[in-house]
Amino acid sequence: AFEVLVIGGGPAGSAAAIYAARKGISTGIAAERFGGQVADTMGIENLISVPYTEGPKLVAAMEQHVNEYEVDIMNMQRAEKLIPAAQTGGLHEVKLANGGSLKARTVILSTGARWRQMGVPGEEEYRNKGVAYCPHCDGPLFKGKRVAVIGGGNSGVEAAIDLAGIVGHVTLIEFGEQMCADEVLQKKLRSLNNVKIITSGQTTEVVGKDGKVSGLNYTDRTTGEAHHVELEGVFVQIGLVPNTEWLKGDIELSQHGEIIVNDRNETSIPGVFAAGDATTVPYKQIVISMGEGSKAALSAFDFLIRNSAE
Ligand code: FAD
Repeated sequence: AFEVLVIGGGPAGSAAAIYAARKGISTGIAAERFGGQVADTMGIENLISVPYTEGPKLVAAMEQHVNEYEVDIMNMQRAEKLIPAAQTGGLHEVKLANGGSLKARTVILSTGARWRQMGVPGEEEYRNKGVAYCPHCDGPLFKGKRVAVIGGGNSGVEAAIDLAGIVGHVTLIEFGEQMCADEVLQKKLRSLNNVKIITSGQTTEVVGKDGKVSGLNYTDRTTGEAHHVELEGVFVQIGLVPNTEWLKGDIELSQHGEIIVNDRNETSIPGVFAAGDATTVPYKQIVISMGEGSKAALSAFDFLIRNSAE
C-alpha cells in the first residue's frame, strides 16, 4: 500500500506527487493520461517565471521532475471507484478500469476537468486555431481582432468583459432568450461599446479559411434565420465539467460536480484530499493547480503523522 496515492497526472497531481515524495513517504500516481489538459495546450505564457512554453514541453518537464523522485508512475490507468477506509487512518482503496485496485493511507484526487464543447462542425477542427476555451490564457493572442464568446452565463459574460479590453470587438452569443449572468456583470457588459449581445442564438458552425477560424454561423432561434459573423476567434464558455463522475455518492461534490475542499484541501472523507480543476477552488489555471497540489500533499503528510499506522 502507498502512503500517498495521487489520482490524476496533470499539474495538480504532479505537484502533489513531488511534494509527497520529498517527505520520503511511499508515493504513487495513477493517471489516465499523464499531463492532463496541458497536453492539449499550445502556448503557455502565464506560468510565473516561465515567460513562454508549450503544452507538450511542460508535460515532459513535469514528468522529468516527478521522475527525480521515487514515485511509482502508473500511466494510462483510469480510476473507477473510491472505497474509503472503514476508519480514520485505515486504508482507502481505488479500483481501476483494468480490474486492478490500489490501496493507500491517503489519497489525493486531482482528476481535473474538461471544457464543455458546443459539438458543432468546425469546433474540433479549429481548436487552438481560433477556437479557444480559456480567456485568461488565450485572450492576448487575439489583440485587436474580432472574437465571439459563446455563452451568457457568469463565465461567458466575464470572458466577454475581459476580452473587450484586449480585442477589437466581441460578439456574445447566448442560446436562451436572456443571459443568465449576475446582473452587475450584464450591466458592465452592456456599458462596453465594442460588444454586441445576441440572445436566442444557436451557433451552428465554426467556419475557417487557410487553416484558421474566419467566421461563425448561428441561427436566430426566434425567427429561424441563419446569420454569419466574420471574426478571428471563438471563445466557448458553456461550462467546465469536472472529471468526478466516478466519485458521485462516495464524496461530497458541489452542484457543479466539483469536489468540495476546504483551505487545507481536505474533502468530506478523512485522509482523502483533492486539488486542482476537479475541486471547488476558483480560477482553473496551471499555476493554481500546482499550488493546490502541493498544499494537498502537505496536508496528507500532516494527516499521516497524526494518524500513525494501526
Ligand atoms: P488536468 O490538467 O485536467 O489533469 C487531470 C489528470 O487527471 C489527467 O492526467 C487525467 O488523465 C487524469 N484523470 C482524469 N480522470 C481520471 C480518472 N478517472 N482516473 C485516473 N486519472 C484521471 N492554464 C494556464 O494556467 N495557462 C494556460 O495557458 C492554459 N491554457 C489552456 C488551454 C487549453 C486548451 C485548456 C484545455 C486549458 C488551459 N489551461 C491553462 C488550464 C489548465 O490546463 C488547467 O487549469 C490545469 O491543467 C488543471 O490541472 P489539473 O491537474 O487540476 O487537471
